[in-house]
Amino acid sequence: MTGKKLDSLDRFLRSFARTGGAEREHATELARMSAEAIGAVIEEIDEGVLIADANDPHLRLIHANRAFETITGYSRDDVIGKNCRYLQGSDRLQPEIARMREAISELKPIAVTLRNYRKDGSLFWNSIRLFPLPASGPKTYVVGLIRDVTDVHLSAERIDRAEHHDQLTGSLNRYTFVERLDALSMRSVQLPVIVKINVAQFQDINTSYGFDVGDALLQQTAQRLQALGPDLIARTGGDEFAIACLADGREQALAWLNRIGIALGQRFTLPGASIEVRFATGFVIGQPGGNAISLLRQAGTALHHSRGTRLREVKEFEAADQRRSVQRQRMTNELQQAVANGEFLFHYQPRVDLRTGTIIGAEALLRWNHGVFGLQRPDRFIELAEDTGLILDIGHWGRCEVARFAAEVNKHRQTPLHFSVNVAAIELNHRDIVASVEDAVKKNGADPAWLTLELTERMLAEETPKLIAMFHQLRELGVGLSIDDFGVGYSSFRYVDRYPLTEIKIDRGLVREMPQSAAKRIIIGAVIEIGRELGFDIVAEGIETEAQRDALKAMDCPFGQGYLFGAPVEADVFKALAEATLESKA
Ligand code: C2E
Ligand code: CA
Ligand code: CA
Repeated sequence: MTGKKLDSLDRFLRSFARTGGAEREHATELARMSAEAIGAVIEEIDEGVLIADANDPHLRLIHANRAFETITGYSRDDVIGKNCRYLQGSDRLQPEIARMREAISELKPIAVTLRNYRKDGSLFWNSIRLFPLPASGPKTYVVGLIRDVTDVHLSAERIDRAEHHDQLTGSLNRYTFVERLDALSMRSVQLPVIVKINVAQFQDINTSYGFDVGDALLQQTAQRLQALGPDLIARTGGDEFAIACLADGREQALAWLNRIGIALGQRFTLPGASIEVRFATGFVIGQPGGNAISLLRQAGTALHHSRGTRLREVKEFEAADQRRSVQRQRMTNELQQAVANGEFLFHYQPRVDLRTGTIIGAEALLRWNHGVFGLQRPDRFIELAEDTGLILDIGHWGRCEVARFAAEVNKHRQTPLHFSVNVAAIELNHRDIVASVEDAVKKNGADPAWLTLELTERMLAEETPKLIAMFHQLRELGVGLSIDDFGVGYSSFRYVDRYPLTEIKIDRGLVREMPQSAAKRIIIGAVIEIGRELGFDIVAEGIETEAQRDALKAMDCPFGQGYLFGAPVEADVFKALAEATLESKA
């Protein structure tokens, strides 16, 4: 160290001692220490120390200690006489750099953490404290203390990622998206554009290609969206993403949308598959400062709209959607009331033995007796009840009601009637169906064998051990398990030997087209054949004509259901019907 530098260091440390507050008593003592000794102390400190002359417009270093060399990999010869900027490499767009520069020009202390680069080019997180010494005066120094906090920073970043990001795709989670969208929209005069997309038929992709492929598809989708450089991207649901960006106007917003469409339109190359994927897309162009939650909800409504179109057209949120969503809200409230007020009931549609025409049981079909609009069929409310989770309450009530009715009807019968009841998909995940059925039969003194649960293929697609175990428990309990709308999906047969099922219900679409279509007749024939081999009951549903019935009979289909034999009717009417056939037989 040259004499001149030591001299300045000496003076700076004297002033350092003067500012020592509680240690003032020792200040004079310290001031008497030789510059040499102080230099030696600085040399031993673990933190990197650097000193520059505050009056030097280039802020060239006049001193650096050994720890500085260790942390940065630069030797003192490399750095003395130069500005420290080289530590930033080309990574200059860090907001903290500007803050630091400002503090130096105003001779104010500051602490920042920057991405810096060692001599070998490797990144490290540098925690820097800068302060002027003395705080004023003709000769002022800028003293810097630096510490490598890479480890701390990386683990903090990891925690931050876990809290705010989706693990699979690395995009934000919904909660963080909303939080950041709010911040983004508040501080900008541009228009927030929120786009929501979702993979069409994701479940089918998972089922046909496997979950690895499904996961890879989601990851690539996120990467493609990310590459467009949006302000925010989040995975908001299983196969659903939200993207937010700012636009100067409508034209720019639409250009954005176009880019998203192009990016997702390319084929996806996935492990063992190269596929074209269709996405439903909904978007909303908000106003500056728009509320994030409602923007996201509006984009969601538009997405819902897009999903309803056959070709998954891109849909923009419109005021009409707003009205619809208000209506949905109103109906949700009404549904809630309906559950509380017991406005639900069942109609029963007879199922018959095709050979003899006798009634062997019924399917219980849910109805809502709406105070103003009268009797409502399920297609008016089931979807909403599922979306809102209200179906969970309705479902359990329903199983109890059907068990009660079965017990009432079968009380004096020698051959009991069997009752089928539909189960909604979300009930399998959110409700202990086994406990629900057990409760229903016990409470009403019904035999579990009188009940059959109707499920659709979609519900069986997941094939988790938990689901399969649940089916076995239901069978042990004694209830029947039927696969409804059989033949609609192309993978129907996949499930017949994986689950302990007891019945197949041939979809009414197949039955309807049977007289005209040889292909449909062949399919139905195969279903009946295979079903019989596997010991299933086979029911054809939606039989409306004698021609359909006769064809099914000719194929040895044992059971049928449809308007030809009887529409769904009120419980009392069904009971009378069942007793009448019993009497006529007797
Ligand atoms: P699904 O299980 O396929 O029920 C059969 C539907 O076909 C019933 O409509 C029935 O009225 C109708 N149908 C019966 N015979 C014929 C026929 O000969 N021709 C034609 N074209 N249609 C016929 P519904 O009662 O409107 O029920 C519609 C759907 O609502 C049901 O389809 C089922 O998926 C669902 N659903 C009904 N009740 C419940 C329930 O208690 N819980 C749940 N989760 N869903 C239910
Ligand atoms: Ca059904
Ligand atoms: Ca059906």
